[in-house]
Amino acid sequence: AGRKPSASKPSSRGSAGIEITHPDRVVFPDDGYTKQDVADYYASIMKWFLPGVVHRPTSVIRCPEGTAKACFFQKHMIQGLKHVGSAELKEESGALATYIYPLDADSVIELVQFGVLEFHPWGSTIAQPDLADRVVFDLDPGDDVAWPRVVAAARLMRKLLAQLGLESFLRTTGGKGLHVVVPLNPGCAWPQVKDFAQAFAATVAQAHPLEFIATATKAQRGGKIYLDYLRNSRGATSVASYSLRARSGAPVAMPLRWSELGKLRSGRDFDIRSAPKRMARLRSDPWVGIDDVRQDLNNMTRKLR
Ligand code: ATP
Ligand code: MN
Ligand code: MN
Repeated sequence: AGRKPSASKPSSRGSAGIEITHPDRVVFPDDGYTKQDVADYYASIMKWFLPGVVHRPTSVIRCPEGTAKACFFQKHMIQGLKHVGSAELKEESGALATYIYPLDADSVIELVQFGVLEFHPWGSTIAQPDLADRVVFDLDPGDDVAWPRVVAAARLMRKLLAQLGLESFLRTTGGKGLHVVVPLNPGCAWPQVKDFAQAFAATVAQAHPLEFIATATKAQRGGKIYLDYLRNSRGATSVASYSLRARSGAPVAMPLRWSELGKLRSGRDFDIRSAPKRMARLRSDPWVGIDDVRQDLNNMTRKLR
């Protein structure tokens, strides 16, 4: 990677008309990618990215001085934002807090201007924050799990979900693992979603104890894939499809068709350079049809038994 030095500019216009200050600031020091590269990346995949974040309460990872310095996981409104939506939502504690949600391309580019690299939406929309429209099974392989086992695990999850009548979708995280995402339409109340996710993960782990573990304690994870069902409660987040990750190499969380799983080599096959090229080649969204799926979790607890 690396980037040719360009004449230093004090600021530039993002393609959405939002000013990017310090465009030449290197935010990925191992790779040389700048703040402008980040803005250009999001602009280039914007039409694919927006459907996964618009109108969803969204936490962000900000690295104002780049990934070499401190990064913050930020859940709430940032002073000075003008182009994002904001809404008061109840915290787990019961207190109200101001959450932000992207409205459009300007929101995304403005957040980049504020140092955001990663986007982490809720599994619900601002209109109905108490109803989940996504279940996310986060497959977290232990350090000594070879990649083909992660692939097999995702396939097995898909098969077992299909046996319950649930269609699922796949993405890389840009990190170690994969997410298997189940759309819900109509949405389901969070407690029901949480119970289902936990029960399903436990059932799978019991049936395949050498492959999976579904308890949150890290102690016994060696050699296994942790089925992290904890993404599924009100206020929990998962990385957005097409989000960059604030890690060396500027990897990207990439939605895939199931037919693409076999040729995948890792959870970080796609990055800030290869992701836009892939999307420019694709004729249709890798998750085409997800909004037309009609399924919910009614009777699932009974079916699981
Ligand atoms: P990997 O494949 O490497 O596991 P991942 O995105 O699944 O990548 P996890 O560590 O499994 O990473 O985290 C799952 C999700 O938890 C993240 O996508 C994010 O939305 C959320 N998360 C991460 N950090 C925090 C944090 N500090 N506070 C709350 N939620 C977080
Ligand atoms: Mn994970
Ligand atoms: Mn996890």
